[in-house]
Amino acid sequence: APTLVLFRHDLRLADNLALSAAADCGRPVVAAFILDEESEGMRPLGGARRWWLHHSLCALAGRLSDLGAELVLRRGRMAETTVALARETGAATVFWNRRYEPAAIHADKKMKAALRENGIAAESFTGQLLHEPWRIKTGSGGFYRVFTPFWRTLSEGFVPREPADAPEKLSVFKGDVESDRLDDWQLLPTRPDWAGGLRKAWTPGETGAHKRLEAFLDGGGKGYETLRDRMASEATSSLSPHLSHGEITPYQIWQHLEHRNDLTPGDLQTFRKELGWREFCWHLLFHNPQLAAKNFNSDFDAFPWNRDDGALQAWQRGRTGYPVVDAAMRQLWQTGWMHNRARMIVASFLVKDLRLDWREGEQWFWDTLVDADPASNPANWQWVAGSGADAAPYFRIFNPVLQGEKFDSGGDYIRRYVPELENLPSKGIHKPWKAKGEALKKAGITLGKTYPEPMVDHATAREHALSDYKSLKSE
Ligand code: FAD
Repeated sequence: APTLVLFRHDLRLADNLALSAAADCGRPVVAAFILDEESEGMRPLGGARRWWLHHSLCALAGRLSDLGAELVLRRGRMAETTVALARETGAATVFWNRRYEPAAIHADKKMKAALRENGIAAESFTGQLLHEPWRIKTGSGGFYRVFTPFWRTLSEGFVPREPADAPEKLSVFKGDVESDRLDDWQLLPTRPDWAGGLRKAWTPGETGAHKRLEAFLDGGGKGYETLRDRMASEATSSLSPHLSHGEITPYQIWQHLEHRNDLTPGDLQTFRKELGWREFCWHLLFHNPQLAAKNFNSDFDAFPWNRDDGALQAWQRGRTGYPVVDAAMRQLWQTGWMHNRARMIVASFLVKDLRLDWREGEQWFWDTLVDADPASNPANWQWVAGSGADAAPYFRIFNPVLQGEKFDSGGDYIRRYVPELENLPSKGIHKPWKAKGEALKKAGITLGKTYPEPMVDHATAREHALSDYKSLKSE
């Protein structure tokens, strides 16, 4: 009887433990991807992730077809759809790699029970993390709220397992199995087709992921420690969407890092720590299933957030009048990705300058990021908002001008994404409203027409945010 292998957050052949186990069994393999947006609590995918998923599935199907296998596509609740597929193919066993978001854990538990009820064996393997999120515990057996001790526990004496190679051959199931047509899932945008910039920026799929890693190690990896905050540089890996779709594993990345002796210990350590932040976010989500919906720190439940759709829209469209915020929001819209420093700046601007609820920002990121992640997105939003576990203190408010001057001193990031400001000299590019009329005229800028006036005065907004915060504390 065949073995059914499910692909979900693991759209790859190499270091895919469920697939390797199935290949080792020697029985015919049915490879399937089930799109489940119906099980209880599943959050519908955002637009940018749907675009990525479409292309990543094409890439995965291509890799499988090199081994003579087809990727069967089905849509529906995980438990019912898997049982139906196992029955149709006569599969005696189902293998999968574990998922860790609460709704998916619930759906997978139901699936396991349903398979067993039907006399079908089920086995799961470790998923997309270095550590199962429940394995790491504090001395008293609880979960970590602070990154540094979490990372110490995770990394001390950590011996990563060897990543598994992709199977060289697969015994392939020869029967007829019905599969959905990927195009019928309509994951791609049609009218308007907003994905032109995404197509230019990314190659979804396992091969694209490994090329991205090589390019990073050959280029940006050197100097990562010092350059990673420069928004215009390509010093960071841009591996986040590949990691998030499981096209590459942290084990594979870890191993590649180990074999590179041209990275300084500082670069290596800093990069590994970033992978650690990813683990920490999953640890937090596992222990706090409502991370995207509820303030981690419930004091913030009483925060007097503004409701202002106009302000939210100006932020979303990159029309706030603060060049670094606008550049970042336009980078997001054009490419489906944003530099980490820029994410912190725009999140702080939304929450502290506009005093809009962090969940509004989290939802926009969820819809527009190709790496939109159920753990990293809410955990980082809560971190910036000050409502999170290991949060930045609320009163530390990013000044968008100073941040721009520090991390985009030449103004290259602004010029790339806010072309209407490109002729301003670097010195004043982060605060066009301070430029002399003559300089603006020379640069072809009419404030309020070709580029917006700042929508808030940062100093005033800051005071307002601090007094809101104080009122919260005194309640
Ligand atoms: P690199 O600097 O090359 O880091 C390597 C990897 O480490 C990343 O690919 C990522 O997997 C992980 N990583 C790095 N920083 C963080 C971090 N702060 N938290 C968790 N993991 C991290 N990351 C997402 O993957 N998905 C999200 O939805 C997401 N939303 C965010 C929202 C906000 C408001 C903020 C401030 C950060 C968010 N991040 C998110 C974290 C971080 O910005 C991105 O992971 C990073 O910018 C991805 O770029 P990179 O791959 O070049 O990172």
